[in-house]
This record gives sequence, C-alpha cells and structure tokens, in this order.
Amino acid sequence: MSETAALAELAKRRGFFFASNEAYGGTAGFYTYGPEGAALKRNIEDAWRDLFVRELGNMELEAPTVMPEAVFEASGHLEGFDDMILECAECGATHRADHLVEDAVPDIEDAEALGTERVAELVAEHGIGCPSCGAALAEEPVEEFNLMFGTNIGPGSGAPGYLRPETAQGIFVEFPRLKEYARNTLPFGVAQIGRAYRNEISPRRALVRVREFTQAELEHFIDPERDRPPIEAVEDVEVPLYSASAQTGDGDGGVERHTVGAALEAGPLESEWVAYYLGRSVEFYERIGIDMDRFRYRQHLAGERAHYAADCWDAEAEIGGNWIEVTGFAYRSDYDLSKHGEHSGEPFTVFRQYDEPRTVERAVVDPDMSYLGPEFGEAAGEVADALEALAGRDRSAFEGDSVTVELDGETHAVPVETTGFAVEEQTEAGEHITPHVIEPSFGVGRLVYSVLIHAHGTDTVDDEERSFLELPAAMAPTTVAVVPLMTKDGLDERAEGIAARLRADGFEVAYDDTGNIGRRYRRQDEVGTPYCVTVDYETLEDDTVTIRERDSTEQKRVSADDLSAVIRRLVSGDALSEL
Ligand code: AMP
Repeated sequence: MSETAALAELAKRRGFFFASNEAYGGTAGFYTYGPEGAALKRNIEDAWRDLFVRELGNMELEAPTVMPEAVFEASGHLEGFDDMILECAECGATHRADHLVEDAVPDIEDAEALGTERVAELVAEHGIGCPSCGAALAEEPVEEFNLMFGTNIGPGSGAPGYLRPETAQGIFVEFPRLKEYARNTLPFGVAQIGRAYRNEISPRRALVRVREFTQAELEHFIDPERDRPPIEAVEDVEVPLYSASAQTGDGDGGVERHTVGAALEAGPLESEWVAYYLGRSVEFYERIGIDMDRFRYRQHLAGERAHYAADCWDAEAEIGGNWIEVTGFAYRSDYDLSKHGEHSGEPFTVFRQYDEPRTVERAVVDPDMSYLGPEFGEAAGEVADALEALAGRDRSAFEGDSVTVELDGETHAVPVETTGFAVEEQTEAGEHITPHVIEPSFGVGRLVYSVLIHAHGTDTVDDEERSFLELPAAMAPTTVAVVPLMTKDGLDERAEGIAARLRADGFEVAYDDTGNIGRRYRRQDEVGTPYCVTVDYETLEDDTVTIRERDSTEQKRVSADDLSAVIRRLVSGDALSEL
C-alpha cells in the first residue's frame, strides 16, 4: 500500500479525517476532522499562533467569511480568480484542463501560464482522454471558471456576496481601523486563522485540494523605505532552497542548503522580508513535525508570480513522491491596499513623518466662479476640480493665456487669469504612503496532512508489526494514556485517579482499560500518543507507575507523585533514559 493510501485508511479508522456527508453519498472536496484530527489541527494552529502572533508581537483578528462583492471587485478575485475547466461531453465530469496537460506531458510543469487556447490545443495534440470515462476530450472547449462560491446577502439578489477565497481580504479591508490600533505606526502585522472556500474544479489528494479549508495568514505592513526585518535573528538558519534558476536548468537543478544570510548576500533570496519569514518558518515546521529532509522552499518562476509581487517562494512538503505547496510567501508591494484605497475612497495609507519638516512648492488654483458659473453652467464645479487636478499634475499647462481641461471626452478652454493659478510655498510635516505587504499564507489542512504522512511509520516490536505516528509530543492529540494492568483489585480505580490528576494538571489524557496491555500500547502508538502510564500491582505497594515511551518503547518506573513533573520534562524534550 502506498503511504498516502495507508494514511487515508488510518485517518478514517482512527478519526483523524474522513470525507464528509458519506451518509448522503459524500460531497467531493469536503473533509471532516474526527476527534484525533481536530485535536492535532488545533495543536498545529496553536503552535502557529504561538510563533507568528505571540512571539513576533503581531495582532490577530477574526473577520466574517462572507464578504460583499465590492471587496472582490477591488481585490481582483471577481475578474481573475479562475482555473481552467474542461467538461467531458460523454460523462459530464469536469476536470482542471491544465492539470490534465501537466499529467500527460512530462515537460510541462505550469500549463496554466500557457493560456486556455494553447491548453486546448495540447489536449488535442496529445489525445488526452477523460480520466473518468476515457472519452476523447479533443473537441471540448477549455474555459475559465471562477472559483468563488457566490451567495446573496439578505433576501433577494440585490446584494451579492461571496465566501472568502482567502482570509487575507478580511485583514486588508479593515486596514483603516487596524492602523489606528497600531497607533498609525509601521511596521505592524495582523494575523488570522480561519476558513477559506474555493470551488475547486477537481478536488484531489485528500486534504491537499479541498473546497473548504483553514488558512493561517499573516499580513505584515511595512514602510518599504524605512523598515527592515530583524534579519540577525535568522541569519544563521539553514534553509533548503530550490531556486528559479535551478528549476529552469541554469543551475545544477537541485535543492541547495544555505544560511539565510548567505542566500541574501549571494542569491537566490531577493527580499530581506521574505527571507526573514522563510527563516522564521523553519522553526515552526520543525516544531509541528514536518520532516525537514522532505521539505524545500521553491522560488516562483518569473511567469508564475503576479506582476506586483517582488519575490515569491512556496514552502513545499514531499508527499507520496509529489511536492505539495503548504505555504506561500509573497512580497505583495502596495497592491492590495492601493486597490482597496482606489475602490473604496477610504484612506488605506499611513502618515509618514519627515525627519525635518520640508518646504515644498505647490501649484494651486482659486477659480473665479463668477466667470465659470455663467460660462459652464452645471459643469462649473467639475471644471474647477479639473483645473485643480491639472495644476497638481502639470503646471506648464497654465503658462499661456488659456488652459484646456477635459471633461467626459470634451475639451474646455478657460482663460488662465480666471483660474487664480499660483505657485505657493508650503511647509509639510510628512506624507501619506501606502504600506507594502509581506504575506506568509499557510494552509493548515495541508500541514496536518504533511505532518501525518511524515510521522507515519511501521516497525517490528516483539515480533509484531507496529504502526505508529512519530508526532512531536506537543502536537499529539493525546499526551499521555493511562492504562491499568487489570480492571480489578482496585487497579482501575487507582488508574482513574491518576488520569484525573493528570487532567487537572493540564494534560490531554486518554484512559484505556480494554484489551491486553500490548494491544493498548499499539492503539496509542497508532494515534501518536507519546507516553503511556501503566498502573500495576506494584503501584498499590509503593505508589510507582511505569512510563513507556512511544518511539523507543523504553519503560521506566517513577513515583506517581512525580508524574506530572516528569511528563512535563519529557514533553519539553528530555529523553526518558536521561531522567
Ligand atoms: P494561495 O492563496 O493559493 O497561495 O494559497 C495559500 C495556501 O492555502 C496554500 O499554500 C495552501 O497551503 C492552501 N490552499 C490553497 N488552496 C487550497 C485547497 N484547495 N485546499 C487546501 N489548501 C489550499
């Protein structure tokens, strides 16, 4: 069985995750996290929050998941958040046309960049058939399909809304208020963990491509001229980099390990801010249990990144022989805030104080309305506004006797002497700038999936095959399982008392008294419980219990009174053999 198939089986049987709504035939692209999976996901989110919010001193908010159309008009999602769809005329199944081409043509890695027409040609040229029924797809059109789930806000269809396709917009739209909480001072970061929705054409690979998923995103707002990241903190962190040149054949084609400092100095890292977050994130991936030998940062190719993005990298985890993007890191310049500023008319800017007040020359107008009124009638106000805008833009236009302004495609000549044009000296304390944004965007479901795949293994213990999850103790759904040797002679009561005390001390505890001891250990190993505590007859005599470690299967007796302290030490990294 492949590692993904083995994990899917384990995930369903032991309650990590499973396809939703199976009682009604299932709904493709939706997964439910069972009790074990929900706990693991929560622990991963807490680890993310602990680093990216608490430790780095950022804010966290919680925005609605439904947003009005105007937001997505501004963000560009309404116009451009599309994937290529191809529908089979024979069986009606829909497919991602670019994925069909990538799967069929080994040399093509990013078919989306080729455009719908070329992709349709490639489908025909390579005789690609429908993956569901095998019918030829050569005659079928390839079209753009918008991935947003639409809805209506309130009754009727007058107020269209969409389920957010990313959590980021909920942060960007609130920038005018958020900057006040940051006392109008850059830089500051705002994080959000929440659901995002994409009506994916072909959901696949379990939690990898689904239609509802959790993102953990951070938007770090900076003054691009003044703010620098505390790069010293990550300079010596080693990062596995798969650069654009290595991907296109100019380099040696592989992943290179460099320190963040060296990769910034000699390439391929370009943005100090992106480099900072790549370095910081290594700590996070290690903490949650990603196998760093199956992990890389891949630089976007020139054609892959948005025109406004300065430098983009994806964190990728290897799963079943495929590299899966688990996080996107992007330097997004002022794109998002500028767009919302333009579309809303609100100030998506921050006031940047000059070191010293500056005296600047400003061209101003003070039009004579007693002339403009009779001359232009209702349009007089607009002519006055156009004169003001023109003065700011091109003062040479006012050098002759008359100046020409354009309104709705019509030109109007105005005598300069009626415009009140003058160049004045003004003292300014600062200027309004649109902050730039660095965005690390983590897919929590993909992280959960990668961690599970990387942690899953089998070995042989006592001549029996054992399936286990080598999860870091702090991520495991259950930290300690309490198992009484027998359910008689007071052993079970003693064990229940110990479990209750561990729970009161803050641990996630399971209590298991069914089946033989060996089987109970296996059950806990399989869901990644790092420690089992066994209560036996000796416990009744001298108040000691046995702690068994999942990974080494080593066992040690400790006093029941010391149990919480011992487990705390083990969770923080001490080995049982060293206690
Ligand atoms: P993007 O905005 O497309 O860069 O996505 C940001 C992150 O969200 C990615 O790195 C993924 O981890 C995650 N993600 C995107 N699309 C999906 C999906 N359909 N299913 C699960 N996770 C996703």
